[in-house]
Amino acid sequence: MKITRKSGNIPLVSIGENETCLTVGATLNGTAHANGSRDLAAAEQAAAAFLRALGVPLDRPGLAKTPRRMTKAYAELLTPREFDLTTFPNDGGYDELVLVRDIPFTSVCEHHLLPFLGRAHVGYLPGDRILGLSKLARLVELFARGPQVQERLTKQVADWLDKRLRPRGVGVVLEAEHMCMTLRGVQAGGARTVTSTLLGALRSDARSRAEFLDLVHP
Ligand SMILES: [Zn+2]
Repeated sequence: MKITRKSGNIPLVSIGENETCLTVGATLNGTAHANGSRDLAAAEQAAAAFLRALGVPLDRPGLAKTPRRMTKAYAELLTPREFDLTTFPNDGGYDELVLVRDIPFTSVCEHHLLPFLGRAHVGYLPGDRILGLSKLARLVELFARGPQVQERLTKQVADWLDKRLRPRGVGVVLEAEHMCMTLRGVQAGGARTVTSTLLGALRSDARSRAEFLDLVHP
């Protein structure tokens, strides 16, 4: 096992040895703050000042603890949980598509800091290594926790799998409703934004691409 960390950005893992295990956390996507740099007391004071400046009466009983709750809620949305990303040798030589469909996710749009939420479909054509299935969901969550745009989130998940797992192909499709579109502005309630990144054989091979897209949207 060999883990290298590159200057504060994405940790590098060597794939191809018998076991590859990596704990990834708050700084992985480069957008969230590391736990150590958070100052929740300052955030709570700032939230109170922000709400007061918008004319929200914080002296009302129901609102007294709102700055604290708001801080906790945003801290949760902006901080990925740490987890181990373990890959395994593809001993069985499985070479068909692996797809986890309908992974629920919540992220925060970096332009308005309002949530966008929906479903992710993540698949790959295995090469020498495979990944625990639950890890595909954790990977989406990892990159979702932080100020994001859906296009980048889609690409980050796909690129991570491509670089770290070296599969023959990767496909990621995200469908999400953006609260900044639903609650304000055009108020396009129910509109879903769909983004996709296809890499390797899932991009270049028509049969594999069609199979992936058929399975994503049966
Ligand atoms: Zn927005």
